[in-house]
Amino acid sequence: MSKVWLVTGASSGFGRAIVEAAVAAGDLVVAAARRTAPLDDLVAAHPGRVTALPLDVTDLDAIEAAVQEVVERHGRIDVLVNNAGRGHVGAVEETTDRELRDLMELHVFGPAALTRAVLPHMRARKSGAIVQMSSMGGRFAFAGVGAYCATKFALEGLSEGLAAEVAPLGIKVLIVEPGAFRTGFAGPGALNQSAALPAYEETVGPVRASLADSDGQQPGDPAKAAAAIRTALDAENTPLRLLLGSDAADAVSAQLDGSRAEFEAWEELTRSTDFDA
Ligand code: NDP
Repeated sequence: MSKVWLVTGASSGFGRAIVEAAVAAGDLVVAAARRTAPLDDLVAAHPGRVTALPLDVTDLDAIEAAVQEVVERHGRIDVLVNNAGRGHVGAVEETTDRELRDLMELHVFGPAALTRAVLPHMRARKSGAIVQMSSMGGRFAFAGVGAYCATKFALEGLSEGLAAEVAPLGIKVLIVEPGAFRTGFAGPGALNQSAALPAYEETVGPVRASLADSDGQQPGDPAKAAAAIRTALDAENTPLRLLLGSDAADAVSAQLDGSRAEFEAWEELTRSTDFDA
């Protein structure tokens, strides 16, 4: 039986690739985007099977109505993909309160509201899947991406708790953690950059330059990512976290080793703070 997907940020990159993979597999997709014009070709190529839905995921008032529209049109939502997002580079001190809050709205509050809106429908049918597009930056941070990673860490914490709550209700949660993929992410105008302070030229400066220079050179293929997400969702034991890309595999493997080494180096002090028996 074909599935019904709701994909946010579907006008570009991963979102579009996920829509293409779903429709190629015979599923029905509601492709949500702020600008729906880039979806016109897909809608025309698959009449009735791909529908474009205007949705800014930071417009919390619009989310309930958008979900209702999908349910009315197709009778259900089998897979929600919280994909909409954008990059941000800036030292923590450089990042304004407004920039941090906007990023939280996009990567945490929007996905949380969409999750709340689809869950009653999924619970009623005792099935469904929620895919959260995080990042390898949902596992670790480095200079210049503290704010971006903070939002992805927040999304992952929310999703890990959610997964434990909804698994007994028949609903899967899949956190996807891509490395660098060739999408519109680092393209012209896409990456938000905080105003630079000279103090961070040495630490954040190279990150600003390399992220912008990576556009079109990233190793990851979004079509292969979409196929991998499908494989993970179709598996009986869908993982909670799915890393994508050999760069993500190398970086997270090193991070896990470093994390264990630090834990062991300080374990005695960690264990020394309980009350004396
Ligand atoms: P793209 O820039 O290609 O796509 C981002 C999509 O998000 C666009 O369709 C954009 O639409 C949409 N979007 C942005 N803001 C909003 C909003 N407020 N409401 C609705 N849609 C919005 O980048 P990616 O495909 O790479 O990004 C998708 C996700 O993947 C993001 O969550 C990102 O953090 C994550 N990611 C990407 C990585 C990469 O290397 N590419 C690595 C790790 C994670 P619009 O045209 O309206 O701006």
